[in-house]
Amino acid sequence: MAISFYGKIASEHELAAVSDCLLQGVFHSDGGYSARLRELFRTHLHAEEVLFTPSCSHALELSCHLLNLQRDDEVILPSYNFPSAANAVLLAGGKPVLCDIDPDTQTLSIKDVENRITRRTRAVIAVHYASISCDMDALTRLSVSAGFSLIEDAATAVCAQYKGLFLGTIGRFGAFSFHSTKNFSCGEGGVLFLRADDLAQAEIFRDKGTNRRQFMRGECDQYAWVSKGSSLVISELLAAMLLPQLESRAETTAKRMAVHNTYVDALQTLSHRGSIRMMAVPTYARPNGHLFYVRFANAALRDRAMNSLLCAGIDARTHFVPLHLSPMGKSLGYRADDLPESRATSETLLRLPIHPLMTQDDALIVAHTLTKAVGG
Ligand SMILES: *Cc1c(COP(=O)(O)O)cnc(C)c1O
Repeated sequence: MAISFYGKIASEHELAAVSDCLLQGVFHSDGGYSARLRELFRTHLHAEEVLFTPSCSHALELSCHLLNLQRDDEVILPSYNFPSAANAVLLAGGKPVLCDIDPDTQTLSIKDVENRITRRTRAVIAVHYASISCDMDALTRLSVSAGFSLIEDAATAVCAQYKGLFLGTIGRFGAFSFHSTKNFSCGEGGVLFLRADDLAQAEIFRDKGTNRRQFMRGECDQYAWVSKGSSLVISELLAAMLLPQLESRAETTAKRMAVHNTYVDALQTLSHRGSIRMMAVPTYARPNGHLFYVRFANAALRDRAMNSLLCAGIDARTHFVPLHLSPMGKSLGYRADDLPESRATSETLLRLPIHPLMTQDDALIVAHTLTKAVGG
């Protein structure tokens, strides 16, 4: 591909950190690099507490475990999403309740969430699609009045903001991904932001159901198996790979947002003419340039534009198939015509390449090729 969808090369700083970690010979979990990364998240992204996990999926599983769900307890989440959040609810013994999305932001529809709240609602998982924040004031108000927890699936939203607050710090839990497709990556990895009140239970579940973390801090003489648990820790090598990336987060985010801004300017005409609908950024949201999308009037127009871009060597992609349309969604009782906005988005949305190795010229080539493709 002339213009690839993803792009990243390891910096000297990452190579140095990983080889230093290897040479020190200490790469079990929660060593010095993890501690520095944790401090960075606490100081600069205002996380109250921080636990690294093998993936965002595991961070969501850890947060759902801490909800202590009983049989028939419900957790509301958008159908237009990756399966991780729904799996986390199922694995914790709860019932995922799928809701629809807002046509402008593709994040969950507050009205539809409201309609689905019942006596059994224990949590809402707010997915910040494309690093665009959900309406967190409205969700916080609902969570207080209806008495449920708010979990932020901020998988792609490291450094993105809502009204000046970092995403992942507003709800009770915030889950992030360091998968190789995300802005900051160690191949496979994740982190959970959580409140101090939840830390002790979370540490036990994450460390094989033992109080090993307390023991390491000198809070008890020996450690023991005290509860149900799993192993949701990551190797120190991965923390070493991440630390330099997070230290240069401002630069990475700025490069991605430069591509975003070039797209917005160069696609203005097409958007005014109504040939495409540009990704909306509400005034309350500050994205991080993870993803840029446009929408078309129907699936045929989207597919035609995508094929023209692919023929020109530009890797453009569709995105989620809504969970309610999947075999698993059907087995949970959903029908194809439930949640129409999720389906329409899936059929008409196209993601354009965006990554820090793209130049302004690359972005202009993409925009011009798209303009020609839709007959501009
Ligand atoms: C990437 C992503 C995930 C999964 O992250 P992993 O780290 O691979 O588990 C979950 N939810 C959303 C919204 C994502 O974008």
